[in-house]
Amino acid sequence: MKNIKDYNLDSLKEEFINMGEKPFRAEQVFKWLYEEKVKEFDEMTNLSLALREKLKENYTMCNFNILKKQESSDGTKKYLFDILDGNAIETVLMSYHHGYSLCVSSQVGCKMGCKFCASTGIQFARNLTSGEIVEQILAVEQDNNIRISNIVFMGIGEPLDNYDNVVNAIRIINNQKGINIGARHISISTSGLVPKIYKLAEENIQCTLSISLHATTNEKRSSMMPVNKLYPIEELLKACKDYINKTNRRISFEYALVKDNNDNLEDAKRLVHLLKGMICHVNLIPINKIENGAYTKSSNENIMKFRDYLNDHGIVATIRRELGSDIDAACGQLRRKNLR
Ligand code: SAH
Repeated sequence: MKNIKDYNLDSLKEEFINMGEKPFRAEQVFKWLYEEKVKEFDEMTNLSLALREKLKENYTMCNFNILKKQESSDGTKKYLFDILDGNAIETVLMSYHHGYSLCVSSQVGCKMGCKFCASTGIQFARNLTSGEIVEQILAVEQDNNIRISNIVFMGIGEPLDNYDNVVNAIRIINNQKGINIGARHISISTSGLVPKIYKLAEENIQCTLSISLHATTNEKRSSMMPVNKLYPIEELLKACKDYINKTNRRISFEYALVKDNNDNLEDAKRLVHLLKGMICHVNLIPINKIENGAYTKSSNENIMKFRDYLNDHGIVATIRRELGSDIDAACGQLRRKNLR
């Protein structure tokens, strides 16, 4: 059966026309799904009984079950969702003074193999569909009776390795008749799939692009992130410049500071040199420890020195607040729990 939440508004209208229904019915269904957040077709009371039956016969609503929920002392909540095929994914809700931010997964497992990330080493199972990406938002909003204002694609998976479903999900999330979260409040984080960055620049979506950079030489970056062997730093930054030129959007560079590895003054100098002249922001992350991980967090002193060096040399840099580390919900700590 098809998942009704896999469709953006235009494709749902086409689907309805093909069923012999008027396209405005698709708008009504959209409203029920994303404004009223109903869980059954029978709750869509302005549709005829016959249409509701037809929808029930042909589509699922893909309502996830919560397998596990953990709450951190800082209020961060981590969800383990049963995604209805025996697989499970994690989603993290963070609370900031400006609202709620949700960290969503884009794949079941990840193929990128970054050495410092807990999602590595779990066998890749499959891409999530658009509806499954969207459902993470609906399920968390329903469970907490809140409205989420920011979405970050920083959960399990490489979003640009599931390009079509992620972009389609963003169209549903962004649509005013859908979940209605402004594109500027949606961030895609990538390990650096260069051809997909060029493609994303052409989509006419104003979302924020985050690049997981983490190192300033190809040697070091390749040792942390195998993807760098395919798309080295120069090519990655060239694609970023194209993204900035085409979208006029500032790029965010993620840089996880590892003790005695990428956190010294030479690295800071090289980083300034690499990013000079780009409209960007550097997000420094004290690296989070993972099971058997070889990487250790830099000292607070080094982290602050690194930040100050960047700021003093014209690169805006901030240190990311660490949320949820006590429940393994911080960056890089998510892993798919195998159910079978
Ligand atoms: N695949 C995408 C999105 C998922 S990872 C990407 O690579 O960007 C989300 C962010 O967490 C990325 O910036 C990633 O580099 C970072 N990250 C992964 N493991 C981490 C760890 N152990 N400590 C801190 N950040 C980590």
